[in-house]
Amino acid sequence: MGQHLQVSELMPPGFVVDEVIDAGSGIRICLRASSATSCCPGCGAASMRVHSRYARQLADLPLSGRPVYLLIRARRFHCDAVLCPRRIFTERFDNEALLPWSRRTSRLDQIIHHLGLALGGRPAAHVA
Ligand SMILES: [Zn+2]
Repeated sequence: MGQHLQVSELMPPGFVVDEVIDAGSGIRICLRASSATSCCPGCGAASMRVHSRYARQLADLPLSGRPVYLLIRARRFHCDAVLCPRRIFTERFDNEALLPWSRRTSRLDQIIHHLGLALGGRPAAHVA
């Protein structure tokens, strides 16, 4: 008894929950990466020199029938490797959690894919 559910336990690994907002129409969870560094996708070098930040919104699994949106404060980093053609890159997260340009978390994407297969076969899954 006396166990409390922490919102951070429901989030994909590698993130820190800053704030949870009950927006009436849904739940908005503000997150940021827990790591201070990110690896350049061009050369693989780790960087901790932040260029800028931007907001990224993704749909996640619903909670008690209400839509959940993750508001991620993502960062852009400088790549200081001399031979790397990228000077600036956006931080990457674990592909198990979310893909670089996705508008949904990977776990929500997986469920939609399987629903598409169950309801309409491969053509429907492709559209989902
Ligand atoms: Zn690089």
